[in-house]
Amino acid sequence: MANEEYNPYMTAQSHVDRVGKMMGLDQDVIDVLRKPRRELTVNMPVKMDNGSIQVFTGFRVQHNSARGPCKGGIRYHPDVTLDEVRALAMWMTWKCTVVGIPFGGAKGGTICNPKSMSKNELERVTRRYASEIYSFIGPQTDIPAPDVGTNAQVMAWIMDTIAMHEGSAMPQVVTGKPVELGGSIGRDEATSRGLMYIAREAARTLDLRVKDASVAIQGFGNVGGNAARLMAAELGSKIVAVSDSRGGIFNPEGLDVMKVERFKRDTGSVHDFPDAKNVSNEELLELECDILVPAALENVINEKNADRILAKIVVEGANGPTTPKADEILAEKGIMLVPDILANAGGVTVSYFEWVQDLQFFFWTLDEVNERLRQVMTSAYAKVRSLADQKEVDLRTAADMIAMGDVARAIQLRGIFP
Ligand code: NAD
Repeated sequence: MANEEYNPYMTAQSHVDRVGKMMGLDQDVIDVLRKPRRELTVNMPVKMDNGSIQVFTGFRVQHNSARGPCKGGIRYHPDVTLDEVRALAMWMTWKCTVVGIPFGGAKGGTICNPKSMSKNELERVTRRYASEIYSFIGPQTDIPAPDVGTNAQVMAWIMDTIAMHEGSAMPQVVTGKPVELGGSIGRDEATSRGLMYIAREAARTLDLRVKDASVAIQGFGNVGGNAARLMAAELGSKIVAVSDSRGGIFNPEGLDVMKVERFKRDTGSVHDFPDAKNVSNEELLELECDILVPAALENVINEKNADRILAKIVVEGANGPTTPKADEILAEKGIMLVPDILANAGGVTVSYFEWVQDLQFFFWTLDEVNERLRQVMTSAYAKVRSLADQKEVDLRTAADMIAMGDVARAIQLRGIFP
């Protein structure tokens, strides 16, 4: 989350400045890229179950729409800030561009703690938020999706609220919906499936056998939990550690992921899982392993711990888990890092598939979704890898160069209105 020491928006802007200069982009174009196009802040009075009224603050930020409608998740978390949402919106622009889908970036957030709210309170906050951003979003302008603290149910409430305002079915207005309401089959696990394809390609680059490779994953939510299950089941990797907000668990022989899932369902956390040793979230990052997947929050790999990271490959499941200083330290140590905008782009890719299916009211099979996802992810990795080799830069810089170059070209081709 954003704080004084690590401001994710400043981090995102420093990437634009650095990479833009490196690429020789015009300063005018860099100036356009380093700021969001539109920002909306809403203060929403919501009736709580005890009859009181609480005012929640929410945001929706659209970074750039040169390549198509804006697209990005909605986060519910007590530490959400406008700067964090701005950074995440900008990252969405790069993410959509690096995997070649025709969207720009957006993000939304509401400052709230969904864990301490009842389902009815959550629904009222969501419907109020959807009403407040109603005129700002739409199938051809800005299409929200789930992020930390939101899920398919939240998307269903947003879709229903917009449909009530419009007076017509609006499945194309959000993605990550339940399949019964026009969601795409395979969307739930798409971010993690995409991450798994990327981890396999990255291991191939290093001649690392992905089967039996040891994997530590921070976060056991949508991204981390599904990544653990898929990497164990489909790659045969050994998941040695996982964690959630209460703490982590470690077993060098490998965890039985299905058992850990059941344990978390029963107890609310992976912490204290009987066949493993408890570790803290900080310790998890420093464990000896082949592949480390930070899949929880921002800035967890930073200058304080980067030199203690022992993994051979870091695959960023979360958005912005590594600070720029940590990037440098990992590079000096010869650790390969696959950046967020590439590694976790599977979710937005299947969100794009969902939007396409909703616009056509024609739905694909799971095999079609997964195969198209595999093609998008592996060809994006190959493109980024090849530019990194050609320019002798790390994968993050190469991914940024591809993304910023394509968006800059789109801006130049469209021209500046009026
Ligand atoms: P989630 O809410 O489903 O899971 C988040 C996980 O992080 C949970 O296990 C939670 O316990 C854990 N966590 C929370 N606070 C923590 C802390 N202080 N220390 C350690 N762990 C903590 O969210 P998610 O959808 O899995 O998203 C995780 C990350 O992946 C975010 O950065 C998000 O932006 C990014 N992401 C998500 C998607 C998606 O499709 N869901 C797509 C791309 C990127």
